[in-house]
Amino acid sequence: MNIQDVRAIVTGGASGMGRAFVLALARDGGDVVAADVNDEGLASLLTEAEGLPGTVRVRRADVSNEAQVVALIDGARADMGGLNVLVNNAGIFRDGLLVKVDRETGKVKGSMSLANWQKVIDIDLTGPFLCTREFARSHIDNGGTDAAVVNISSIARHGNAGQSNYSAAKAGLVADTKLWGTELARYGIRTGAIAPGFIQTPILDGMRPEVLQGMLKGVPMRRTGTTAEIYSGVKFIIECGYFTGRCIDIDGGLVL
Ligand code: NAP
Repeated sequence: MNIQDVRAIVTGGASGMGRAFVLALARDGGDVVAADVNDEGLASLLTEAEGLPGTVRVRRADVSNEAQVVALIDGARADMGGLNVLVNNAGIFRDGLLVKVDRETGKVKGSMSLANWQKVIDIDLTGPFLCTREFARSHIDNGGTDAAVVNISSIARHGNAGQSNYSAAKAGLVADTKLWGTELARYGIRTGAIAPGFIQTPILDGMRPEVLQGMLKGVPMRRTGTTAEIYSGVKFIIECGYFTGRCIDIDGGLVL
């Protein structure tokens, strides 16, 4: 698929990586709907996107809400006069150990709450499930031919201590990328996942420099990645017609 022919939804498009994908796709001539729950971010995105070759529109949608996802998919198709790319990027984290033990007493003093487990699963795994299901329904019912779904996973997919919820969601998303690639190929829908390492986004901006430097010691390239470097993976998945069902790790060589 040529980028100029792209009519995409980017979830979590108001901030960080999703915002960078929206702007880059529009810079490359694609039409994009940014979907997010962050109203301020969506409003400033519209201003920032003015004058780009492609068109940027925004829609408020919570990816974990079934009715809102159905409205997003149908509304975005109507807005753009078509829909052929979905970037499942919206995601959150709520880190914590499975159980936390008090050093003095040797007894458990805390644990990851069911609420924090469920919230991350709802947004990071159920969200992409709902969006991809409705994207496929809309594509097939409208007689679509060539389409692509890009899932933003994480290096945490390999299992990262303190992230039971996030690691499970991001690993599940890679498994679904593979099986959706198999199930949807006959309808002209390809899939691909990207598992980024530490990327320069608002999450890292808020981190103390010494903490960040400590984290980067494990990265062979000794630096964070840029949103542009992750976008090059997104673009590859969209453009390469023989790519489906696989995950690309873009992490500077970091091994967890
Ligand atoms: P970010 O800056 O926090 O942006 C995420 C956006 O998603 C925010 O605008 C957020 O809104 C929105 N959002 C949250 N819940 C939502 C929901 N239910 N429905 C729709 N939108 C929702 O995040 P990021 O760092 O760019 O991360 C983007 C993706 O990359 C995530 O899936 C993340 O797990 C993954 N990732 C990031 C890194 C990294 O280093 N940054 C590394 C690996 C993977 P609010 O601001 O209102 O919450």
